[in-house]
Amino acid sequence: MKRRSYMIGEEHGRCFHPYRVVDSNTDFEVMKSDVQWYKQQLTHCNDFSYYENFAAFLGDHPRLLVRPMKELYAPAPKDRAVVALRHDMDVDPWSALCMSQALRQAGITGTFYVLHTTEMYYGRFDDSGFGAFERYRGLHELLRSMQDDYHCEIGLHLDGLKFYLQYGMDGAGCVRAELAWLRSKGIKIVGTAAHNSAPVYGAENFEMLKGRAVLDRRNLIRNEVSIPLQTLDEAELGLTYEANYPEVGRTEYSFAIPRFLLGHPPDAVRNEKWMRTYLLENPYVCWGHDYNIWLIGDDRWVIAGHRARDPVFIWDAKFNDVCDFLGQLEPGKHAVCHIHPIYIWRPDENKALPPQDPPSQEKPKPLAA
Ligand SMILES: [Zn+2]
Repeated sequence: MKRRSYMIGEEHGRCFHPYRVVDSNTDFEVMKSDVQWYKQQLTHCNDFSYYENFAAFLGDHPRLLVRPMKELYAPAPKDRAVVALRHDMDVDPWSALCMSQALRQAGITGTFYVLHTTEMYYGRFDDSGFGAFERYRGLHELLRSMQDDYHCEIGLHLDGLKFYLQYGMDGAGCVRAELAWLRSKGIKIVGTAAHNSAPVYGAENFEMLKGRAVLDRRNLIRNEVSIPLQTLDEAELGLTYEANYPEVGRTEYSFAIPRFLLGHPPDAVRNEKWMRTYLLENPYVCWGHDYNIWLIGDDRWVIAGHRARDPVFIWDAKFNDVCDFLGQLEPGKHAVCHIHPIYIWRPDENKALPPQDPPSQEKPKPLAA
């Protein structure tokens, strides 16, 4: 009978270990040089001045109102279009910190979503013995500086499905625990943004949230494992929005859905056909904003409208194209600009270094405190 306490999601035919987490002595900066090496391989990065110029354009524009994601749909003056800057901090919190400073300097703000599963700065999974997630030390101070010193919003880049699928652990428990931990460190989180896309796990991470599952599914079958969906209640967790504003009620089952879920092409973000499908013609879910505008490389953007309201799709837009597009938005429209910090060089980053071997081939071995 004792074993029952370890059973979560039993009714779905699968037992998951409870989420186990410990604080480690390893500093979150441990992977910083690896991230820089990775950026050098990418060749998709923009100089920091590129981001500063974009922030200045938004800050100065008389017809645009820049809001954090948590206030995107709050009442706004009738003569303005509303823009939010969404930054998914997938692997690079160091550029993110510099970017929050630049926003403050331009007199605007933005939202940064911290990825609670990344080994690049948040922690690592120790798979010896029972296994536990070990949080690196010090990250919360960087996040708090972005929030308190530079007045940016910090949200959670939701990735609980990874824990079910990769570690056999309770992914919902993971989300609850990290939300509570970040808040205990003074990070005021009220919103989430799902990490990855549906083909990666077979569902979007936001489908862990009640009322947000496509076709109202209660579980996801992946590799013969049943993963519970809709187990997290946003209101109970003090969450007020999901950054995609997914319109799951629009989805109707078709064979395009299993085809879509089969996978995505390599380097999908820079694949025009994929991005048109993902952003605009997505058979799985329709995105809620009027416009999603993604920076995808070195002065390279893609602009996608809402499938039903304005199905525009502009591939390979440049800085000026994006500025013109935003400047001509009708008052009352809402646009979200997605800028991943990994695509922006920090001012102090040595981008001139030729590509080298990664600085640490071995994963660090954080010590539990
Ligand atoms: Zn992400």
